[in-house]
Amino acid sequence: MKFLVLPGDGIGPEIIESAVAVLKEVDKKHGLGIEYDYQEIGFASLEKYGTTLRPELLESARTYEGILLGTISHADYPPPDKGGINVSSAFRVGLDLYANVRPARTRPYIPSNLREGKSMDLVIMREATEGFYPDRNMSRGWGEVMPTPDMALSTRKITRHCSERIARRAFELAAKRRKKVTAIHKANSFHMTDGLFLEAVRHVAKAFPEVELDDLLVDASTAHLVRNPERFDVLVATNFYGDILSDLASELSGSLGLAGSVMAGDHQCCAQAQHGSAPDIQNQDKANPASMILSVAMLLEWMGEKKALPVWAEAGATLHHAVEKVLADPTHRTRDLGGSTGTRAFTAAVIAQIHQ
Ligand code: ATP
Ligand code: MG
Repeated sequence: MKFLVLPGDGIGPEIIESAVAVLKEVDKKHGLGIEYDYQEIGFASLEKYGTTLRPELLESARTYEGILLGTISHADYPPPDKGGINVSSAFRVGLDLYANVRPARTRPYIPSNLREGKSMDLVIMREATEGFYPDRNMSRGWGEVMPTPDMALSTRKITRHCSERIARRAFELAAKRRKKVTAIHKANSFHMTDGLFLEAVRHVAKAFPEVELDDLLVDASTAHLVRNPERFDVLVATNFYGDILSDLASELSGSLGLAGSVMAGDHQCCAQAQHGSAPDIQNQDKANPASMILSVAMLLEWMGEKKALPVWAEAGATLHHAVEKVLADPTHRTRDLGGSTGTRAFTAAVIAQIHQ
């Protein structure tokens, strides 16, 4: 099994190094036989090849079953005609990695940003290939346009196909959890786009009678996340709403540094931390690599399920367990969690735990 490793910008290379080091130990324990191919993306690629993402790299990425994607500093890239390609978006659209799975949960041993006594254990199932992002619609000539220098318009593409397939993923996941899906929308204002999304979710719900479906306006859902997070199990959301809600949920649950995620298609899966490239702490051994390690654990679990390979699911469980054991020990707190443990020391602690 070959994995493609793309370190990226900012803290990307550090948390990717940590995640690969940990993965190699899990591999030793479970005998997964992973081989790694490293390629440059982001600023490293821009310097060498004049573009943050070479088209041939994206093309070759199709041949890998697993991808480890570091963080990217997209906001600081030059415009697309000067080589600044949004790598995350290109992977999501190019490889049709339509399901961005973003869990957020509180842990009794990590201080959360919720009110005393409140807890959270939810997963945001975010559609990743369409929606309010101009670069997802550009190929059709849609995107953002400025009819006059003083007016800008933005388009948002929602399709029945993409809404139904992300809904199916949400219901499948909820069926294995607490059996509840909440559809996030703003159909009272966006009658057509959010209306179509909601209709698609309700249609898919019929095939999952054991899972309860409710829905919330996106604005109301932010209040519920703060006030009453226990009400959520799986949230299904269009691209933009899902992005905003997942930052809120992960920060409420403790720290962005704990926020793992995968972008999954039907045949391939890519592990990527939920957060950005955090250039403010780059190269200082301050990044919390748990986000990337937990993303890799999710990737292993996805492989276990999709490929019906139980050993991969076991390897994912080993990794999850090791990270939680380390997080439960207050002497291993990284800076984002109020401690002073560095990226490398945290990584070493996880590796030690794997071999316990
Ligand atoms: P970008 O433009 O790439 O999104 P950013 O400056 O917005 O970069 P984010 O990664 O989105 O940075 O996160 C915001 C802040 O949260 C960072 O500046 C950083 O201090 C903190 N942070 C994010 N991820 C981590 C992490 N893994 N470990 C520690 N702190 C983190
Ligand atoms: Mg950011």
